[in-house]
Amino acid sequence: MKYIDAPDLQERMVEIVKTLEMEHIDLSRVKCLRSFGSSTKRTIARCHTMGKLMQKAMGVSAFYAIEFLERFERMSKVDQDKVIIHELMHIPKTFGGGFRQHDFVCEENIEVFHREYLKRKQKQDIFVSPEPKKFPFWKF
Ligand SMILES: [Zn+2]
Repeated sequence: MKYIDAPDLQERMVEIVKTLEMEHIDLSRVKCLRSFGSSTKRTIARCHTMGKLMQKAMGVSAFYAIEFLERFERMSKVDQDKVIIHELMHIPKTFGGGFRQHDFVCEENIEVFHREYLKRKQKQDIFVSPEPKKFPFWKF
């Protein structure tokens, strides 16, 4: 396996987090990487973290890494955005080193997030001044 930084995907991830106001996500503690040479051909991306015990042992707080596999590159931009949203949704509100499971990170909720993302992006393009702050549109 080989891993390289993915600054372009990092930028897209940051854009999505900011647009959707996912304020529980500490952007300084999420990193996007590309991986090459995985034997799992079906996997597109996956979210990694470090459990509480390792955090305690190492004296560090939670950190999340989003790995994008080779299959990701062959997807459309829209589907790629949905994959990024999918992985971000695995990060729980506590940002504590656990994951939200696929009962929440499901096709239906991903669509809701993606639709909201497009809606907000459109508004950003039309209006110069930002909209007043709203509560997050999703429920935890
Ligand atoms: Zn998932």
